[in-house]
Amino acid sequence: MSELIIGVDLGGTNVKTAIISRDKKVLGKDSRPTRAEEGPEAVMACMAESVEAVLAETGAKHGDVLAAGFGAPGPMNWQTGVVYSPPNLPGWKNVPLADEMTKRLGFPCYVDNDANVACYGEYWLGAGQGADNMCLLTLGTGVGGGIVVFGQLLRGIDGTAAEIGHLKVMRGGRTCGCGATGCLEAYGSVTGMVRTAVEGIEAGRKTVLTGVCKGDLKAITGKMISDGIAQGDEFCKWVMNETGVWLGIGISSLINLLNPEKVVLCGGMIAAGEDLFAPIRKTARELTFEVPANRAQIVPAGLGADSGVIGSAGCALARFESGI
Ligand SMILES: [Zn+2]
Repeated sequence: MSELIIGVDLGGTNVKTAIISRDKKVLGKDSRPTRAEEGPEAVMACMAESVEAVLAETGAKHGDVLAAGFGAPGPMNWQTGVVYSPPNLPGWKNVPLADEMTKRLGFPCYVDNDANVACYGEYWLGAGQGADNMCLLTLGTGVGGGIVVFGQLLRGIDGTAAEIGHLKVMRGGRTCGCGATGCLEAYGSVTGMVRTAVEGIEAGRKTVLTGVCKGDLKAITGKMISDGIAQGDEFCKWVMNETGVWLGIGISSLINLLNPEKVVLCGGMIAAGEDLFAPIRKTARELTFEVPANRAQIVPAGLGADSGVIGSAGCALARFESGI
């Protein structure tokens, strides 16, 4: 067995690892708690253990592995593999992750931004297969993004490109986690959706949410809103629709800018299905030129929660082969 690639998705809660053959077959997987609170040494030991576990599971040797890719939260330098200081990894400051993991594992290790690798995963093996021009939005606490142009990740000169969550969708508006105002993330993330709900209730709208959160509006969650929709609550339906409209506004700019074949959405929020996708598609179509609007399909991710781990492997293989 030779020519294997390993992908590792470094999240604040879990480390996920997959071992993949060069012909794109997933041969083994592992997932374990990150132990983020113990600092970078413990997290790197955890990732090395997870890699050893998938090697043992498939009976592969270190010499069978071409390369390993690590999808990590930014900010980072993807070329040097140095991770600066991600908010959800306490104690990390300029950690030379690629070099450290190469030392521990003995094969070439590459580091990339987690949203970029998720995009590459969908391009390589998921809903974006066959679409050489595509983009991806991760819809969670924030809105992450990745862009593939003619089969290559669009990184920008400093590697900071594709921050789709920080596209401006209005002048002024809500303050975003990044400090700026009017970012898509402040409206189209789960956090943004909850803010839409809270603002609506504060403006006097009636909803089951008020009872569910026992009057504590800070306790409202995305799940409460989806449960409200399942119970037929009109206000919750309106909140999801509004969230879809905001996302459609941001996505229309992406479609006009990039003329992609696919816009892939991933993250927990896509479980809302048509309640979310219908307003996104309608709004994006209304605001986009006809030719790129006809071309772009707005679709859910094909790899579920595995886009990142599979994309980390895909990115590592692409970088190993091209020498970047
Ligand atoms: Zn922002």
